Amino acid sequence: MDVNIGISGIPASSKGHDTLEGIRRIKELGLGLMEIQFVRNIYLNLDSAKDVGSLAKKLRVELTCHASYYINLASVRDEVQKASIGRLVDTLKIAEALGSRLMVVHAGFYSQRPKDEAFSLIKANIDEVYRQYPSKVMFGAETMGKQKSFGSTDEIVSLCKACDNVCPVIDFGHIHARTFGGIKDKEDYTSVFERLENELDLKRFHIHMSCMRHANGNEISHLPLSAKDPDFRFMADSIRENGYSCSVVCESPLLEHDALLFKSWL
Ligand SMILES: [Zn+2]
Repeated sequence: MDVNIGISGIPASSKGHDTLEGIRRIKELGLGLMEIQFVRNIYLNLDSAKDVGSLAKKLRVELTCHASYYINLASVRDEVQKASIGRLVDTLKIAEALGSRLMVVHAGFYSQRPKDEAFSLIKANIDEVYRQYPSKVMFGAETMGKQKSFGSTDEIVSLCKACDNVCPVIDFGHIHARTFGGIKDKEDYTSVFERLENELDLKRFHIHMSCMRHANGNEISHLPLSAKDPDFRFMADSIRENGYSCSVVCESPLLEHDALLFKSWL
């Protein structure tokens, strides 16, 4: 079992909003991972990303990054698809400079398309991203928490099978919301892990962790782990008992507090 735990973005207890300070704070807290948030803009350039990457390497803090929220690879508008491809290419370049092995992406919405058509278009547009910028950084396709978003567990597994450079990002809060509260016990976590192990031959999992306020199969907002919706103690039990290797990114409103709480459960 090799579990690396961290948070989404800069720690709340970090001095200021500087990424370098954030990485130092992650280390001080005894955590080992930061997922850098390019969700509103790519706020680092190539040089600053290299500085961030070398500090992280020195302190042995794993870095991943999260691409823009303004991406829809299945949009009905061609210009939105093109802009999305462009944003992903730009993010890949910075991800490489950071030394990130993974770029997390919300791939898109069905956009009134049949689901299989959205799937084919998203696959074709991912191929286009890597045609424009061949990179070893993986496309981390996230399981999504709304019915209108592409990204059920089935779709993410199929996409990973269809594209060489795509791996899954398992957001259990999203899966829970999308399946109307379907993550209830340890077995519900284990069945997701087993499926990814068996169908994708995955040896290490990238996980997003936050409880969710949800209704009618849709996420509404993130909640602390104390909400137990879903209960992440069962995920800790599943990981420990099965010896899974994973990176866990805490996205709860209590960032490092909940990351450390989860660490104490392992
Ligand atoms: Zn996300």
